[in-house]
Amino acid sequence: MTDKTSVIKLGNDTTASIKIKRTKRKHTIGISVKDINLIVVSSPNHISDEVIFNILKEKERWIRNKLEYIKKKQSNNKLFKQGEIHPYLGKDYTLQLVKSDNALVEIFDCNLIVSCINTDNELLVRHLLYNWYYNQARKIISERAFIIFSEFNQYSLSVPEISICSMKNKWGQCSARGIIKINKDLIKYDPKCIDYVIIHEFCHLIELNHSKKFYNLLDRHYPAWKSVRSILKAKGH
Ligand SMILES: [Zn+2]
Repeated sequence: MTDKTSVIKLGNDTTASIKIKRTKRKHTIGISVKDINLIVVSSPNHISDEVIFNILKEKERWIRNKLEYIKKKQSNNKLFKQGEIHPYLGKDYTLQLVKSDNALVEIFDCNLIVSCINTDNELLVRHLLYNWYYNQARKIISERAFIIFSEFNQYSLSVPEISICSMKNKWGQCSARGIIKINKDLIKYDPKCIDYVIIHEFCHLIELNHSKKFYNLLDRHYPAWKSVRSILKAKGH
């Protein structure tokens, strides 16, 4: 059998293309949701299309959740146009594009103002804005870390190396060697999210694993950690 594409209806309001790829798999089929309307099924030759469609129907809820997740992720993709909303420290700002020979990003009232030579150049606006976010993240997260670290003086820790960087699936990380990484995207969210991640990683300097001892430390240094963690989980990690 050769590969083929069909359409499946999921619930009342969703249809998606199904691409069935015949592979050397022996028994099981693999399902992956590739895009907002594309589901790829890898299947052994001997499993009929009908059986595959029945399995997909059984997994409808899982597929719909995946499609929803992709849809949400895509709607987060920005176009960097005048009037678009961009978050910073938990507040929404309106993007204002100003034509100018000098490249500059600044905040004024509820506006995030990007001045540059060509405001129609989406890549240029994106580059300037992301650079600004990164610089703000480095400045603000480092300042918070410096202040919060004084609370940890009592444990006689050596000052950790902290880098603010891109992280795909985590908000923060602490290595066994005590090197801490903090996700730069935290700069978009409420400052309490920044504080929580910093404190979480500082607690790892004392207890590397998520043990009972670790959560006792977290309770002591950030009693409201559960509510902040659920905010961050809703943002994706
Ligand atoms: Zn942790």
